[in-house]
Amino acid sequence: MFKASLFPQACLLCSASKGGSLGVCSDCLCDLPYHDQSSCPQCGLPSFERQHCGSCLASTPDFDLTTAAFTYAYPISQVLQQYKYQQQLFLAETFANLMLQKLKPHNIDLIIPMPLHPNRLQERGFNQSLEIARIIGKRSNIVVNSQAVARIKHSPPQASLPLKERARNMKGAFICHEDLSGLRIALVDDVMTTGASLNALAKAVKAKGAAHVECWLIARTLAK
Ligand SMILES: [Zn+2]
Ligand SMILES: [Zn+2]
Repeated sequence: MFKASLFPQACLLCSASKGGSLGVCSDCLCDLPYHDQSSCPQCGLPSFERQHCGSCLASTPDFDLTTAAFTYAYPISQVLQQYKYQQQLFLAETFANLMLQKLKPHNIDLIIPMPLHPNRLQERGFNQSLEIARIIGKRSNIVVNSQAVARIKHSPPQASLPLKERARNMKGAFICHEDLSGLRIALVDDVMTTGASLNALAKAVKAKGAAHVECWLIARTLAK
């Protein structure tokens, strides 16, 4: 199958123009909510002159860097819902390409996608982060390992919980099976809100010796 045939002909967002190789027309591409404001390098929240934010200084996350292609806002929020819940898998290609425009994949040894609990994987039929990680890995020549970490706690979806309870919900959620001594790792996830899931995942890979852990996201929410 030709790659182009995976995409609908019309732009995903306005359906007025042709979508082109990303599935989104050039006018709509210009209007997307790119996460390009001055933000904290560690957690991606807005900060003055790209300095570390007060929250990261007060309580340092287990991940070292965060890169988000977008701020979590319309229409990215809507396209993400279509990708995750309506199984529009061709969108993995769009998101991976848009993320690659911003990512600096050099110096990364291994990509680990956010694992889903086996029950949730069965419900959804695919892991949205793994599909994107695969494409990024292939394009940037970095190994993707989706087996290194398992999600062992079938906890309620983070989005269903009050912000304050999310860290507790993720406690002990992951177990890392492999020795990651000295490796520089990128974690791929769709959205970071409080950072609780990514922090728990970063903690699990650092416990196995990872030297550096960064988060690669489609979108960052600005509320914390
Ligand atoms: Zn358009
Ligand atoms: Zn921060």
